[in-house]
Amino acid sequence: MSNQQRGKLVVGNWKMHGRLAANAALLQAVAQGSGELPADVRVGVCVPSLYLAQAQSLLKGSPVVWGVQDVSAFTHGAYTGEVAAPMVTDFGATFAIVGHSERRAYHRESAELVAVKTQRVLEAGLTPIVCVGETLEEREAGSTEQVVGGQLDEVLAKVSAQEAARLVVAYEPVWAIGTGKSASAAQAQAVHAFLRARLAAKGAADVPLLYGGSVKPENAEELFRQLDIDGGLIGGASLKDQDFLAICKAAAATSVAG
Ligand code: PEP
Repeated sequence: MSNQQRGKLVVGNWKMHGRLAANAALLQAVAQGSGELPADVRVGVCVPSLYLAQAQSLLKGSPVVWGVQDVSAFTHGAYTGEVAAPMVTDFGATFAIVGHSERRAYHRESAELVAVKTQRVLEAGLTPIVCVGETLEEREAGSTEQVVGGQLDEVLAKVSAQEAARLVVAYEPVWAIGTGKSASAAQAQAVHAFLRARLAAKGAADVPLLYGGSVKPENAEELFRQLDIDGGLIGGASLKDQDFLAICKAAAATSVAG
């Protein structure tokens, strides 16, 4: 399948930002702006789980889908403060991010735990957005492929080929997240091609591969034109409706229907 046949996917990761009133304005603006996008550009927002019901009520009937930024590795039980994947399903969600570098770093999530969470998300009928990425030190040591390949392999080892085909994978170099310093289009494409080959070996060549790390309206189109970049996972810029919609429009400019 070609880059164009796969269409484009742009997902916002709000992280721990937002309050009821500000969310309402942002969700309404994104829902309205997304109505003007071609059908082969899909848009989603991953909100703090507390605001899932709000996202559901304000996005229902719009082309925008919603999800969360993490789930528990367990389906239920005595895990104070955790949110289970089936609970997320109750709110009509589509996506759950797993393995974001902030969770790997600040919550010491291992590659194995990320793989278990991926399984829970799949079992709940949701689409996992599996994040992988190397630190600056790892890149400079020449171990980018070893790091991202290892993170992805841990997930692929725990899922069937059919399940692998239901994944979304996001390449997010840790050094580019929230720093304003994006990977160049060529750097990102090289890692995406590597990840695509790994997925193809599992029979899942066509999963959407998103790039994340300081995507902005100014650099989105060049990134999205790369052969193996199927869209973006957007942090900071997803909190500003105009910027997020401009990135969605950049995706449309690189899609077949756009
Ligand atoms: C992210 O955290 O997923 C991300 C890509 O952040 P930013 O766009 O702010 O770099």
